[in-house]
Amino acid sequence: MILRDSLASSGQGRVVALGVAAALAVLACGDGGPASPTRLDVSPSVGLLTSVGTMQKFTAQVVDERGASMAGVSVAWSSSNPSVAAIDASTGVATAQQTGVTTITAAVGTVSGEALLEVYLPLEPSYIPGQAYFGRRQYIEYVAGDLPIIVSAPHGGYEEPLEIPDRTWGTTSRDRQTQELIRVIGAAIHDRTGRHPHLVVSRLHRSKLDPNRDIDEAAQGNPFAEWAWNEFHGFIEAAEQAVEEEYGKGFYIDLHGHGHDIQRLELGYLLSATDLARSDAELAQPEYVDRSSIHTLAGEAASGFVALLRGPTSLGGLLAERGFPSVPSPAQPDPGWQPYFSGGYNTRRHGSRDGGAVSGVQLEANWQGVRDSAGSRDTFAAALAEVLAIFFSAHIGVELTYAAPMATHSEWGRFHGTESALHIGR
Ligand SMILES: [Zn+2]
Repeated sequence: MILRDSLASSGQGRVVALGVAAALAVLACGDGGPASPTRLDVSPSVGLLTSVGTMQKFTAQVVDERGASMAGVSVAWSSSNPSVAAIDASTGVATAQQTGVTTITAAVGTVSGEALLEVYLPLEPSYIPGQAYFGRRQYIEYVAGDLPIIVSAPHGGYEEPLEIPDRTWGTTSRDRQTQELIRVIGAAIHDRTGRHPHLVVSRLHRSKLDPNRDIDEAAQGNPFAEWAWNEFHGFIEAAEQAVEEEYGKGFYIDLHGHGHDIQRLELGYLLSATDLARSDAELAQPEYVDRSSIHTLAGEAASGFVALLRGPTSLGGLLAERGFPSVPSPAQPDPGWQPYFSGGYNTRRHGSRDGGAVSGVQLEANWQGVRDSAGSRDTFAAALAEVLAIFFSAHIGVELTYAAPMATHSEWGRFHGTESALHIGR
């Protein structure tokens, strides 16, 4: 189980009580005197359990006045709020009972150490299209949809909670205005169709969580960041399930903003600049189709892989036609030697490279004319809504014409937080 394994490595507890007697013992201690417990370090220092009955094992390291670890000292465990999580006094195994926070204490005589344990039991909502749902502490937001379109924004968040330490490696800069842009895209698609795309937003700053990475780089061992990462991908998978049940197939866009000099949209299908520099005939070979994020769609669409990728009715072709230069597209079939993002973790996981009915793309928006003002964002979002309608009609066989909102689907892609921790693989 991912969550609990990772908890075990999330660091040492802090010392909270150094008894007066223990302090005096340090002062009085001469060389060769008997060792006595002076400090207790509890691991992990913070824990998070997300379903009733799940367990977290705490361990304590007893340290003597010379800083040496003492073996074989038995420790007494207690929980400040046993109704949230009870703990076995001798083994240090805590069991989740109900939502809340409890302080776990390990003690030997007057020396003790503490850790914090939170129990968070997510709700199991029936999703209503157009309505926003939030994960723990509103770090992750899901706007439920009733269209076969899923859009995520992993890098547009602002929240910097103290409970999650700053990430110490990997990229930490925010994709400016992408959270604003995804909301306007949702509104433009709704204006056009009367229905809602599924939107998944990380409201955490990228210095706290990078959902477009594997969990190790994304959350760097913090249990709250790991849980938010699980929610982000769990919501996308709930959306994919809803799309598959209702439409049989759909399309996913992972929305980003790039800082490259050339002002053009970069569409990443998991093909490198070198791949894209190949001729149409070469690119049509299974080798390239199979490792693209539109693998499934390419096998179904009569238009063929290269037309989907950079033909006149590809996303790039249609966007370029509306004044948004794009690569790949008929005019710019490959990025040349310029910097280019070909797609990341989300595109690999939630597109159709490895199968599945939802194909996808990483859309890296340039700044000028796309993200730089409310007017730009509105214009781009309206163009994207129109482009998606044409693309769906031409290649996916779904008409995104105006329709009355669909009935609520209580069974749609319900995201059970407790299950996600168990079932969301990597
Ligand atoms: Zn990004």
